Amino acid sequence: MKKLLIVDDSSTMRKIIKRVLRQAEIAVDSILEASNGIEALEQLVANPDVGLILSDINMPEMNGIDLVKAVREAHSTEALPVIMVTTEGGEAMIASAMSSGANGYVTKPFTPDSIRCVLDPYFS
Ligand SMILES: [Mg+2]
Repeated sequence: MKKLLIVDDSSTMRKIIKRVLRQAEIAVDSILEASNGIEALEQLVANPDVGLILSDINMPEMNGIDLVKAVREAHSTEALPVIMVTTEGGEAMIASAMSSGANGYVTKPFTPDSIRCVLDPYFS
């Protein structure tokens, strides 16, 4: 039903996110991964059918906020939703991401329930 792109510089965090998505029973067809914004944009070129991006904010090379800005140059919030994954206390970063065109965010550490709350609207 949907191809999802997880962007995080920590491979451990990408694994955790994939596990929580499985536990939350989010109906994704396939999950792609990227470790920074540059790689994410490359993944989008190779996979134009990606339906949703779940992205960390703090990453080397290109961070999550610059990724959102780049995505919004080509895709609307409806066409390609971007959900930020953030740590507690990152309110300023979240505000910046939202004003740059992010659709929403989940706060680490998250549970299957909290991730389902945020993602369900995009999978129904
Ligand atoms: Mg990070």
